[in-house]
Amino acid sequence: MVKAIVGANWGDEGKGKITDMLASQSDVVIRFQGGANAGHTIINNYGRFALHTLPSGVFYPHITNIVGNGVALDVAKLLEELKQVEAQGVPAPRLIVSDRAQLLMPYHALQDAYEEERLGGRAFGSTKSGIAPFYSDKYAKTGIQVCDLFDEVRLRTRLTAAVELKNVLFQHLYHKPALDPDQLMEHLLAMREQIRPYVGDTVTFVHQVLKEGKTVLLEGQLGSMKDPDLGIFPMTTSSHTLAGYGCVGGCVPPTAIQDVICVTKAYSSCVGSSTEPFVSEVAGEAGDELRRRGGDRGEFGATTGRPRRVGWFDAVATKYGCMVQGATQVALTCLDVLSYLEKIPVCTGYEIDGRVTDAFPTTPALLRARPVFEEFPGWKTDIRGCTRYQDLPARAQDYVDFLEAQIGAPITMVSTGPKREEMTYRTPKI
Ligand code: GDP
Repeated sequence: MVKAIVGANWGDEGKGKITDMLASQSDVVIRFQGGANAGHTIINNYGRFALHTLPSGVFYPHITNIVGNGVALDVAKLLEELKQVEAQGVPAPRLIVSDRAQLLMPYHALQDAYEEERLGGRAFGSTKSGIAPFYSDKYAKTGIQVCDLFDEVRLRTRLTAAVELKNVLFQHLYHKPALDPDQLMEHLLAMREQIRPYVGDTVTFVHQVLKEGKTVLLEGQLGSMKDPDLGIFPMTTSSHTLAGYGCVGGCVPPTAIQDVICVTKAYSSCVGSSTEPFVSEVAGEAGDELRRRGGDRGEFGATTGRPRRVGWFDAVATKYGCMVQGATQVALTCLDVLSYLEKIPVCTGYEIDGRVTDAFPTTPALLRARPVFEEFPGWKTDIRGCTRYQDLPARAQDYVDFLEAQIGAPITMVSTGPKREEMTYRTPKI
């Protein structure tokens, strides 16, 4: 059976912690989309880790970790991450990289950076890791698959064709130096030798383990709002962030996904440019304080270190985010962060052109939306590390009940700290 762990919002909801926690009862963990442009923070007995491409099952020797065909594979970054994890004392993980995954090439990162430079003030706030050019090339069919590395004639032909196109862009649009295909070929062949031990047929492997009745976890990156179809286009990422895409990027049959665990935080955070719509944002001193207290070390990007924008819980976005993921259950993280507050606002509606709605709109209307808040009394008690739901203060439980009723999906887990064991389990009321 397959369980998906995905984000309900803008990413950074704490999926890494939930995956790390649930991984112990799983046999396989699959990353099915995205690249090294976002990170999962995991804190366990080995220490603190920011994983970018490696699946979060790497801390368990019994787990097979899969980099699925839907991932934008930056080989250098993957190998670097493996080295880092092993340097921190983690035994060499079982890892299979799909032979159908495509390679994030050095020119993708260059193109990303050149394009942001060209856009200037209109830039998307990309992490410049090449994700958008990578997926553009995949769908334009000029991408290079891992399997191509093992057929040198084919590899050279495909690379030459790709470089021809890139050089027109690089020289004539961006006024930058041309790429040298020979140099790139050399780079790819060196890369091939390093990745060779991990490459495999993940499609057959996944179908086989499912036939054997094993448990597979799909680990999503970012969240619903960043999906290019159902998110806040164009301030989205370039791969699908929805559990449904696990069927393609992780190659599990749609009927095998029995559980979709949607992760959301007890407040909101979002990375990306300041022009991105973020309706429940808290500005000024109150925002600075929430940012400082958020997560395990404040709300700063796991990959970029950029300060994240923060806001109150957005029930409109989260309800929609859970709906499009098809959430069967919800994990609410970072409840402990709110313990300092006298009053806790929750965004329960958007006012758009004078009318209040709880339906999440398309981008042009979203850009005009103003938040409607309801306030909750805070519990003002330190709940960090609490492991029994019934031990949480009544006001904290009331807050969770309210969020559950708003989003219309059962909250089964409430996290009270960044560590694996800092978790409470709750019987949903809906
Ligand atoms: P992901 O991309 O969804 O895995 O999320 P990140 O790892 O980027 O961000 C979540 C942040 O919240 C990390 O710093 C986690 O260590 C931290 N975190 C996760 N759950 C909790 C929690 O319940 N309480 C606190 N205080 N921090 C948490």
